[in-house]
Amino acid sequence: MSRTNSLSATNLAVHHHLNCDLYLHNAYHEERTAGTKGQDKPLSELSKAQFKRGLDWESTLYSWLDRSELLLKVPCIPLEAKTLIENIQADDRDHFFITGLTFWPPEAQLNKRFLKTNSVPVIFGLAKPDLLEITRTSDGVTWKVVDAKASKSVKTSHHVQIYFYTLCLSYILDDPFFTPSGEAGVWLPPKQGFHSVLPSFKDVKTISISLLESSLNYFLFFRLPSLLSLSLEDVSWHFNPLCRGCNYETQCRSRASNEGEIGSAPNISIDDARSLKDLLQISFSTSLLSEYDRLTDIEDLHTLIAKPGALNILDRSSPSLTKKARRVLGLPRKRRVVKSSVFSPVIQAARSNKIQVIPRRNFTCPSEEDVAFVISLILDPSSPGTNVEFFCITAVGSTTLEMPTVTHGTGASLIAALARYIRTILTLAPIPRTQFYVWSAIEQASLQSHLINAALISVNDADVRLCIGALAQGASLLQTTFQPLLLSGALLSFLSKGKMLKADYQACLERMDLSTTGKFEELRQRLDDEIRKIQLEGESLFENGDHRREFGQLPRVVVLKKEVESLLALPTPGYWELPDCARVLLAGDSSLPPSSCPSDEEIFRLYKMESSLEPLQGSLLQRNDYIYSVLAALRSRVASHDGPFLLVNEAKVLSSKFMDLCRQDTLRKLFFMQQFEVLSKLNELWKSRIDGCPDAPVLEYKTTTQGAKGIIHVFRLVSGTVDIRGDKDQAFYDHILVEDVSEDSDSDKEIPVEALFDDLAVSGLLFPLNRYTKANWQLQHPIVQRKLAVVDLKNVTVQGDATTVSLHIWGTWEVGFDRDRHYRLSPRLVDFNTAKSLAALFELDLQCSTHQENPSAGLQTHHDLPFLRLILDPKSFDAIEDASQYLRIENDMQRLFRDLRDLGNTSAGALVLKSSQHRAARRILSNRLSVIWGPPGTGKTYTISLSLLRLLEVQRRLGDRNRKIVFITAMTHAAIDACRNKLLRLIDHYQDIESLPTQWLSDLKIEQVLKGNNHPAPPKSGSGIRVYTGTIYQACSI
Ligand code: SF4
Repeated sequence: MSRTNSLSATNLAVHHHLNCDLYLHNAYHEERTAGTKGQDKPLSELSKAQFKRGLDWESTLYSWLDRSELLLKVPCIPLEAKTLIENIQADDRDHFFITGLTFWPPEAQLNKRFLKTNSVPVIFGLAKPDLLEITRTSDGVTWKVVDAKASKSVKTSHHVQIYFYTLCLSYILDDPFFTPSGEAGVWLPPKQGFHSVLPSFKDVKTISISLLESSLNYFLFFRLPSLLSLSLEDVSWHFNPLCRGCNYETQCRSRASNEGEIGSAPNISIDDARSLKDLLQISFSTSLLSEYDRLTDIEDLHTLIAKPGALNILDRSSPSLTKKARRVLGLPRKRRVVKSSVFSPVIQAARSNKIQVIPRRNFTCPSEEDVAFVISLILDPSSPGTNVEFFCITAVGSTTLEMPTVTHGTGASLIAALARYIRTILTLAPIPRTQFYVWSAIEQASLQSHLINAALISVNDADVRLCIGALAQGASLLQTTFQPLLLSGALLSFLSKGKMLKADYQACLERMDLSTTGKFEELRQRLDDEIRKIQLEGESLFENGDHRREFGQLPRVVVLKKEVESLLALPTPGYWELPDCARVLLAGDSSLPPSSCPSDEEIFRLYKMESSLEPLQGSLLQRNDYIYSVLAALRSRVASHDGPFLLVNEAKVLSSKFMDLCRQDTLRKLFFMQQFEVLSKLNELWKSRIDGCPDAPVLEYKTTTQGAKGIIHVFRLVSGTVDIRGDKDQAFYDHILVEDVSEDSDSDKEIPVEALFDDLAVSGLLFPLNRYTKANWQLQHPIVQRKLAVVDLKNVTVQGDATTVSLHIWGTWEVGFDRDRHYRLSPRLVDFNTAKSLAALFELDLQCSTHQENPSAGLQTHHDLPFLRLILDPKSFDAIEDASQYLRIENDMQRLFRDLRDLGNTSAGALVLKSSQHRAARRILSNRLSVIWGPPGTGKTYTISLSLLRLLEVQRRLGDRNRKIVFITAMTHAAIDACRNKLLRLIDHYQDIESLPTQWLSDLKIEQVLKGNNHPAPPKSGSGIRVYTGTIYQACSI
């Protein structure tokens, strides 16, 4: 059987990936309209590498299944239902996977479904699922489609494919002997890479078919036939960065330009294009634009923007949409009283075919430096990891440099090469202002993960530490604001833990490279002085403003492509890469002919050639030269732009200071990762703040009332969404509020107030601040003190279309509230734990070295340090010795309560665990460590409380009369209260059941811990059971 004009499951998946109806339309109709079936473009080397990775993963997986005797290979020819069924029935294994399966989708059954929706049937081509999992049951087999995908996570396009296969097979295997499992799966490679780690069933990510059914049936049987029946002109499409590599790219690029489609401007995502089209739609429907004058999308947008006041009108009627459009089109984000027309540089570039400057202040690209390092990295998509395969570093400097200007090498030598350059720079006097550049975000991400992976493997290596200090994202923050605050906090937290011995002070001083000699008092004084010094260092940074300029504003490694995108509108449809950028930006530069800029594809092809390295090195060097020239051209374009200079920062003097306190490798890594976790949260916040929080909800002030717990300010939500946590039982003041706009404001030229706010200075403080903690607030930037309030969300109510938001605020701001004025609400970093975690890691580290230096101290191995044991030897927390006995008795108890319940005893009914809860309880009883996970409302608190009672009862029944101490702890009071109340209620139920032996319950006492330090210690002897409950903050010192 042969089928022309058909779609495959892969076509359906690609359509979802590209989010483009035109792709499907072309793929289905191409032969009819063009006369020849899709001439696929020859695969590029990069695409081949990506493809190869997929094939490698499949063959690794199949050979592993084969070796495990779990694979059945069927001939790769279309199988009839009968043959497939016979093949399955002939195999007597209980569990196996079929590979090579190929079948024609069941046309008759699918056509019936199309007819039900009055749609023209769509023809599908051969289906080839990777694997069909077969599990034998007592009365037949269950089956499940599993596709192997070499990606990091499961995507919607994968779901489309596995759903289609499952749907077809449910018709083909329509036999009572075969039961669909109700699920389908995607088998991903192990996170560590499939070349080094064997495949695992844990990496099969399954999804319930019922979850996919309604949306994919709608797509397959309604939307798909209707889009295929449209004429080509009516099919929706948008030429955008995702189009890279699509078979129809060439024709769509020229169509976008010819038709003045939004895709004739570059880098406008599908979602953004939709918003711009919506804005045009509203403008036509509200007569801001006339239907009679309709031109192309680009021209219509130009007319709309040029019309004085038009955007202000749209701002009022569709604030979110207009705000988004302003961002996409490079327009000022604020509303102004506009008397004259404005124009969008993005639209203007597409109309005029000339580069335009986007007048946006930039904090991430320096205006100048003394030394620039340009780094090009080669990454191989076929490699199982995300390793750097080859690199080229070029040094360009106004300072005389005694170092090679170019270095090439394989990934393994990258860190050493970078460290050599950093060391050379640090030996210069004065140290020059230095900036590192890469071209693309993927190179930046790979460089960062290369550094982090190196640090995880060998955190003590001097080169790695040097590179982390100089290049890791956020390292600048780590060295300035972050370390003084956190390290002094961690040290104070550590020292406040209780009585310190002289040895503790000595160990502490040693870690800080300070003298350890002297009397006890001298040591203490030395440590106090050092902590004060660190604190002062932090405070002085606030005073001279250095930290503010370092606060992520100037990344250590600048991604140049992002900077060009944010500052220049290039006249290139859809998207551009370095050669396209060089072509338009360096036109007229005779030293670097734009046409000679090597593409990533060319460089990758040279890398794949196994002959001499010279052509590759030459090409990489050329790439770096072009990158630097693009940087110079960007600066010159921006400098020639009228108005304020847009590049507000200059490069910093290179620094690679890196301070940590731990010595033990694992603890040192944790100490390091703990800090970087906070940094990454801060970086996320900062990224949005520097753009003026474009996605922050905007509130319109309405009134102020006196609430039971203070003054409440009430607002109407104008744009965005505001969520209030369901479990909110405490005032966290976890948001910040600033004025959004004023009609005649010229504040585009100012740094957004949120970007000046320093989260760390107040991240661990409770609001409202008291007279002691207020000092930290006074260290905030003066503009923050005047213009920003810290906010606690009290309530959000929705009535019809109107959402009302009520807030408590704290601050010293002078802005005040005026009726109908707009304010922006955005999150701040609340962090009560980092300093404590660092202090705890430091304490453990000191214990470790005490053990190493003095084994007679009683610590024999890491087993004596439970937390370290958990990290280094998690398997030692596996099943306990008496597990089988415990489980047997527990099973009797579950059965007893179930029988009593069935006889009508409601108290016993409350003590019966549901089957999933029972499984969890049995895990708790048989393992030293269990993690119970579940969404809210699934009974975790009940399961934990009842499992505790069962464990205690089992032990009593086995004659264990030893004293027991139980801690129940959590982060929040609400969780503790819920657990305690549940426990008390369950005890009541136990005691309500007549004739049940509950004597052991009289030994059990539950105590609420309010302050660990002051709480009476448990009795040292006896057979009682003490259950202590309290948050980690209340219980930690018990
Ligand atoms: S090039 Fe882009 S717009 Fe054209 S068919 Fe492909 S995905 Fe759609």
